[in-house]
Amino acid sequence: MIVDVHTHVFRPKADFGPRLVADLERCGVDPASWGDVCARHRESTAAADVAVVFGIQAAATGWQVPNELVAAHVRSEPERMIFFGSIDPGQPDHREELERCHRDLGCQGIKLAPIYQGVHPLDPRYAGIYAYAEKHGLPILIHMATTFSSGTPLEFARPAHMDQVAIDHPELKLVLAHLGHPWEGETIAVIRRNPNVFADLSALYYRPWQFYNSMRLLCEYHAEHKVLFGSDFPFTTTEDSLRGVRNVNAILASSGLPPVPAEVIEGIIHRDALALLGLKHPKERA
Ligand SMILES: [Zn+2]
Repeated sequence: MIVDVHTHVFRPKADFGPRLVADLERCGVDPASWGDVCARHRESTAAADVAVVFGIQAAATGWQVPNELVAAHVRSEPERMIFFGSIDPGQPDHREELERCHRDLGCQGIKLAPIYQGVHPLDPRYAGIYAYAEKHGLPILIHMATTFSSGTPLEFARPAHMDQVAIDHPELKLVLAHLGHPWEGETIAVIRRNPNVFADLSALYYRPWQFYNSMRLLCEYHAEHKVLFGSDFPFTTTEDSLRGVRNVNAILASSGLPPVPAEVIEGIIHRDALALLGLKHPKERA
């Protein structure tokens, strides 16, 4: 079974604020090149048996993807998709939104993004969300990595902060997105020592030198069993990500550098993320 733990849906025209539009333009990304993201999501993640799907709520950087939109999209293929609600602690009504996502929209987990939301990951507002998620068995996937978005402190994306969160909330299942790039070493330190903290491999393969080094670092620390497969659609597709991850050793050519073993690569791709995160297969729920 292949689980893609990291896929997005959104409507750039309706859901992106001015700052986000400007940041994307500055980085040469044209949202129109993604086409109709919601319509493409199903076929672009078809290579995964199960896909976790979320939007982002982050007013500080211009993301305002309604949780209803994501929940409705997941209902279009309930046997294969899992809905995670996105909660922005910068909003005064975030607690109500959390309970609404959980009770009314049926989210199975939560998506957070401190560097996009402009709130420190150790802020008491996040602590309330961590406690709720821990109490209700909702895994949290949290963006811990740099970003093209501007205007918020890079410090909020440092994976090392999540070590304290894991200590304070030992039963909370956490996934640190994107292996925490460019702090992969910090991420590995955190996932290795905290039993319920994992990382995902999304949006990394297209920086081949960094990706190869990260994979070797994982092997050397024997932490690969804590890593889950993910794509970050629409920034890439599930199929391209599978190909990219399997191609990690292409950069070596005849350099004599040690390859990433095939069993490590396939082990991550076929990791049972649902069991590790305490999630039911969508077929069981549908
Ligand atoms: Zn993402």
